[in-house]
Amino acid sequence: MIVGVPREVKLDEYRVAMIPAGVEELTRAGHHVLIEQDAGLGSGLFNEEYAENGAEIVATAREIYERAELIVKVKEPQPAEWELLQPGQMLFTYFHFAASEDLTAAMQKAGITAIAYETLKGTKGDLPLLTPMSEVAGRMSIQQGAKYLERPQDGRGILLGGVPGVAPAHIAILGGGVVGKNAAQIAAGFQADVCILDINVDRLRYLEDIMPPNVNTLYSDRHNIREQLQRADLVIGAVLIPGAKAPKLVLEEDLNMMKPRAVIIDVAIDQGGCFETSRPTTHSQPTFIINEIVHYCVANMPGAVGRTSTYALNNVTFPYVLQIANLGLAKAATRIPGIVSAINIHKGKITNQAVAETFGMEF
Ligand code: NAD
Repeated sequence: MIVGVPREVKLDEYRVAMIPAGVEELTRAGHHVLIEQDAGLGSGLFNEEYAENGAEIVATAREIYERAELIVKVKEPQPAEWELLQPGQMLFTYFHFAASEDLTAAMQKAGITAIAYETLKGTKGDLPLLTPMSEVAGRMSIQQGAKYLERPQDGRGILLGGVPGVAPAHIAILGGGVVGKNAAQIAAGFQADVCILDINVDRLRYLEDIMPPNVNTLYSDRHNIREQLQRADLVIGAVLIPGAKAPKLVLEEDLNMMKPRAVIIDVAIDQGGCFETSRPTTHSQPTFIINEIVHYCVANMPGAVGRTSTYALNNVTFPYVLQIANLGLAKAATRIPGIVSAINIHKGKITNQAVAETFGMEF
């Protein structure tokens, strides 16, 4: 099969959908891999590394779309890429169709088969192609929080771990799922004083078991959230109600009870955010201040650590790429669990009920 990897064109996106090791495996299995020139540069991967592992480096995205049967990407195709897609072509990437009716209609019109990372279900009903990006965002949230707590970045001038004789920062983490757990682990390593709040008591039990003594847990109700807001130097928003907008756990008026120049990192911003005052920001302008509270609400946090994210994403996506290339989509869908749940559009027809219902389209 001819597999194509275009360079990502979305703003602030530095990931690439395939690493040289993937090219080598596909080539060894008898497939031909096209990599757009400089596709890996944002992740520190050079054309020569791809070529040495068997890829053909091509000058333009157009050539990739004209020749490849399977296109592998990171982000949903941007409007400039829509017209390049060929009927019957397979595109394996993050789509997040429910967020854009225009994108959904464009993919239908293009007649492609859209295989979406975000709906590919694991054997336990989990979403294994989303997990690594939550791991990255969770770990990164503490790194960003540490930075924006510094005074020159408008923060309170607090060192996360304190020093002997001076108290560490208090960090409240709303939501103890993948993002929350990873945030807590990094915060604990910094020797901060950490509290995770969740509504799932079994999850709190698990976290209590695996976390070091400087991480505590609390049931997430309005009373406990307000108590934590008064104490916190840094608050991480990491809640998720699958398929729904994030609940607004912190209202605008609640900011008045927080310490001036405390920092909020709203990781859940891609689902609307769990702070009433959040609005999406970008890596080039990540923060804004409301009521003396620094807000960081970047919707694609993993994009900033492109190299780590590229490798983390490839670790989970590549096995599916290889199987689709080896077996063809029809056979792969019958043999490999999860692939059917990832097919959102097949040759232009919507095959995912939730996407169809979102836009009142035919299913
Ligand atoms: P997850 O499902 O693993 O965890 C979510 C947790 O929130 C669960 O444990 C759930 O019990 C808890 N929760 C639900 N309602 C709650 C409430 N009222 N109070 C406290 N906890 C509550 O999800 P995740 O993978 O950790 O993702 C969390 C959020 O981060 C999602 O919105 C996800 O889309 C987002 N995310 C953002 C980025 C980014 O770049 N900004 C990157 C990755 C993930």
